[in-house]
Amino acid sequence: MQSTMNDLPLSIAQILRYGSTVHADAEVITWTDSGPRHRTYGEVGRRAAQLAHALRDLGVTGDQRVATFMWNNAEHLETYLTVPAMGAVLHTLNIRLFPEQIVYVANHAEDRVIIVDPTLIPLLAPVLPEIKTVEHVVVTGDSTAGLEVPDGVGLHTYEGLLAGRPETFEWPDVDERSGAAMCYTSGTTGDPKGVVYSHRSIYLHSMQLCSSSGPNLRQGDLALAIVPQFHAMSWGLPYAAFMIGASLLMPDRFLQPEPIATMITALRPNFGAAVPTIWQGLNQYLAARPTDISSLREVLVGGAAVPPALMQSFENDHGVTILHAWGMTETSPLGSVARPPAAAEGDERWRYRYTQGRFPVQVEARLVDDAGTILPNDGAAVGEVEVRGPWVTSSYYGVDAADKFSDDWLRTGDVGSITPDGYLVLSDRTKDVIKSGGEWISSVDLENAVMGHPDVLEAAVIAIPDEKWDERPLVAVVLRDGSTATMADLRDFLSDKFAKWQLPENWTLIPEVPKTSVGKFDKKRLRAEFREGAFDVTHL
Ligand code: AMP
Repeated sequence: MQSTMNDLPLSIAQILRYGSTVHADAEVITWTDSGPRHRTYGEVGRRAAQLAHALRDLGVTGDQRVATFMWNNAEHLETYLTVPAMGAVLHTLNIRLFPEQIVYVANHAEDRVIIVDPTLIPLLAPVLPEIKTVEHVVVTGDSTAGLEVPDGVGLHTYEGLLAGRPETFEWPDVDERSGAAMCYTSGTTGDPKGVVYSHRSIYLHSMQLCSSSGPNLRQGDLALAIVPQFHAMSWGLPYAAFMIGASLLMPDRFLQPEPIATMITALRPNFGAAVPTIWQGLNQYLAARPTDISSLREVLVGGAAVPPALMQSFENDHGVTILHAWGMTETSPLGSVARPPAAAEGDERWRYRYTQGRFPVQVEARLVDDAGTILPNDGAAVGEVEVRGPWVTSSYYGVDAADKFSDDWLRTGDVGSITPDGYLVLSDRTKDVIKSGGEWISSVDLENAVMGHPDVLEAAVIAIPDEKWDERPLVAVVLRDGSTATMADLRDFLSDKFAKWQLPENWTLIPEVPKTSVGKFDKKRLRAEFREGAFDVTHL
């Protein structure tokens, strides 16, 4: 039997229309060097229409890509809503990628227009001539000072483009399964891979952000969205906030503990989202400069495991609940959220809260061992986590990556167990990337580069814990007999191949890299040896 229900497609245009009228008084507040800059969702709606007219005039039609190279701010929110609502595809460029990767992803996505913040011009300008598909560059604000564009590329100010345009726009009907936005994962090996979110996936994911068993974003909240809009869609907060009528506090480029503490005191947000390093930095700052951050009801923390000590400190010292969550760019990114079952009490609640969280009904998860056998979700069996669901990707854009999927299940590369009541506990990663300050450093890329040095026989890179950045790389090197290269020489050798923040400062010489039974580097063993203090580590 066919249902009798209406098939109205789920779309970003609906979220835009609804948020800008029903929640017209909610606000996006952007932090600037002279304090907060306020804009209502009503104004955002009118400016979105103006931006849509402007982009059409620049020739943006169909599913063409409009890229952003921006901090979290009101203009980025406008772009988030406008580009998909007009049927085009938003591509959020990660400003922290190495220049070659920025060039690769922009060309791969075929970005036509790039919208850039003035403060990010120095990062974009050097790579712009290499981006072959770009036709227009738009600088937010009212000046293009400091930016020269290649011949044939249009240069505009954002405010100049919007000025005088109609404040309404005939948002087209779009297929809910069509692409709305795309993000590239930082490649662990090889080039970054693109994930394309649909209108439907973003809509459903936004509803999950507002679910009481999920992050529970509520109407009237003020959400401090520190998680970048250029990384995993700011965890979906911009769309969810517009949908539910929560206001947004956008920190722009002010991501250091001091301005974060200042904006919390000044504007009293009651919800927040960021990777653990941000909260750890804030916690350290608060220890020296006590500040009341208790306006925060809950903060959503994921992207890397949250240290229990941090959760305890936030709760006990500041009255703020950390809500631990797990996800990936590939999962929109919200996978599991560690809200304990209602019946749990006392220490039991904490045990649940330390986990990576409970999967919602929409995200199915299973564990698979090396031989491909599906393991029970019994809280004991450990295997690679595979997930599927309406906001989980089932391919990558324009590349064949069949090894990342098993039928329609995404192989996450994360290893752990799942309890019968649906909580994920991660124990390791199959990919050995280093998560430094919420960003990836590929151990394989570092190894390959170090092993490119003529004096190096072998090199293996593992993640080691770091107070400030969560993790940093440790390079374990085997030198060739008779070599005179120093570790400083090796680091210099890498300096033109990696971004500065990716360059490893921790080095150790070892006689041989331990190997697994199939001859691969045994990083598990290396990590264990490091923990046992077997290495003499040099800090450069
Ligand atoms: P990204 O796509 O950059 O967001 O990175 C996704 C990866 O981050 C996952 O596959 C995990 O390895 C890691 N990750 C995310 N959340 C957590 C968490 N709560 N605990 C441990 N690792 C996490």
